[in-house]
Amino acid sequence: MKSKLGELALIEQIRSQWGSHGRGTHRALALGIGDDCAILRTPRGRELLVTTDFSLEGRHFRREMHPPESVGHRTLARGLSDLAAMGARPLAAFLSLALPADLLSTRAGGKWIERFFGGLRALADQHHVPLAGGDTSESPCGLLLADIVLLGSAPAGRALRRSGARPGDALYVTGQLGGAAAELASMQSRAAKKHTTHRGVAAMNGAQGDGLHPQLFPQPRIAVGLALLRRGVATACIDLSDGLSTDLAHLCHESGVGAEVSAAALPIHSLAQRTGPGNALSLALNGGEDYELLFAASPNTRVPRSLAGVQITRIGRVVRGSAISILDSAGHAAPLPPGGWQHFTGKP
Ligand code: ADP
Ligand code: MG
Repeated sequence: MKSKLGELALIEQIRSQWGSHGRGTHRALALGIGDDCAILRTPRGRELLVTTDFSLEGRHFRREMHPPESVGHRTLARGLSDLAAMGARPLAAFLSLALPADLLSTRAGGKWIERFFGGLRALADQHHVPLAGGDTSESPCGLLLADIVLLGSAPAGRALRRSGARPGDALYVTGQLGGAAAELASMQSRAAKKHTTHRGVAAMNGAQGDGLHPQLFPQPRIAVGLALLRRGVATACIDLSDGLSTDLAHLCHESGVGAEVSAAALPIHSLAQRTGPGNALSLALNGGEDYELLFAASPNTRVPRSLAGVQITRIGRVVRGSAISILDSAGHAAPLPPGGWQHFTGKP
């Protein structure tokens, strides 16, 4: 009974913090938190895009390692990144939470939840996306489970897809690769040495600058996705949630093509570079959770060096067939197997 009260109090708190958030400032949101449903206005001439993502304690984050602001940020970032990959503009987010009893009934738990929402809110405000509803319940397993639903919109018939890449297209990535996995590895080694990783997070939360904390505060590439769609640059696009090798295989499979990636061309994050050349390459190819975009563009399209202030790097090309290979600096090709995050096999 105690945590039922906790649930209701929490919903009230969420409502008071987000309730007026939508009105006026978010044209698409006719009714936000508080009723049985939210009401959204579908923008004229546009289609709705919907994506849903779990953030599960022990699988996608660890409470002893990720500060609460980071868990909130990453929960929303996963959904926003899917919208970015399709060139969609975010309309509204819905958050279903299963919270362990201690978070619902203790002071420290209340503080944790407040900081979680602080991280989520900072990213929501950055992208002008209202939290329009959700569900809240006590978790039966003592683990925190969060499910985010994101709604977005794109001009009818024009959303970017995984399936449009053609042989001869060039392949590009945004930002830098391998940083999220490198930061995770250093968090894990600090945790093993029993150093707290939460120290300094207040400063970090104020400075989630692009690329500084690729694991804790990845930056979904909404503005880049919008620019790719508006300028008609990309023939196909996917976000890098599982790792370049795995997500490139998804894009190639959906497009019915193969690819060649040049190892020397990969923009490797400085945190990954510090781990040594061989390891850095493997983090960039297989690390995952960078939430950058991978896209293909026709060889006749001029692709700028940066879009919306984010670096764009050409990393290879699309080829006929289905083989995906990686070229070393001498130009020797080797197969590039999907080595990123494998769902349900417990890696990484
Ligand atoms: P119902 O039982 O009708 O589903 P709830 O009591 O679960 O209603 O929720 C009341 C209102 O609070 C609804 O508008 C719902 O969308 C919102 N809400 C509940 N939990 C959350 C949450 N975690 N985040 C955002 N909104 C929430
Ligand atoms: Mg409910």
